[in-house]
Amino acid sequence: MDLRGFLKDVPDFPEPGIIFKDISPLLADPDAFAEAVECMSAPFCDMGITAVAGIDSRGFLFGPSIAQKLDSGFVMIRKAGKLPGATIGVDYDLEYGSDRLEMVDGVIDELDRVLLIDDVLATGGTLGAAFELMSAAGAKVAGVSVLVDLVGLNGRSKLPDVPLHAQIEVN
Ligand code: AMP
Repeated sequence: MDLRGFLKDVPDFPEPGIIFKDISPLLADPDAFAEAVECMSAPFCDMGITAVAGIDSRGFLFGPSIAQKLDSGFVMIRKAGKLPGATIGVDYDLEYGSDRLEMVDGVIDELDRVLLIDDVLATGGTLGAAFELMSAAGAKVAGVSVLVDLVGLNGRSKLPDVPLHAQIEVN
């Protein structure tokens, strides 16, 4: 099944010049959604993944299903201020300004082999910060799985050299 046809390009969202890849049609189609979860999980099934970490917010749409396929737990990587209790966090730069990713302290440790999940890899800033967060927790990132890689932005080159699966590559 070609999942490309289930993405909708929305020009100038959320700001002028950005072509937003809307995954709503894919999520709404049971066969396409199941295929996406299967394809995003399969390359990592023999890699000893112990935790799947999804990035706020669209990483949460795929991460829990992938975790169940891999018999692992699921961990939320959230934007600042959303998680209760003790957290660890990293700040990272955006094109304008900065942002922060956080995780509940203690849900991942140095014994974990983590698979990072997001819907879209663009410049790589967000996934790069997720790598830093896992490193701060002492855990090893064993792989990255995304639905879409916007290859023209070359985000992959900014990430550490671990297996990275992108089910759909677009310019
Ligand atoms: P980046 O940090 O530049 O790699 O951006 C990745 C994050 O921003 C992901 O969490 C995506 O959900 C979101 N994102 C960036 N660009 C797009 C786009 N063109 N369409 C949909 N989501 C995007």
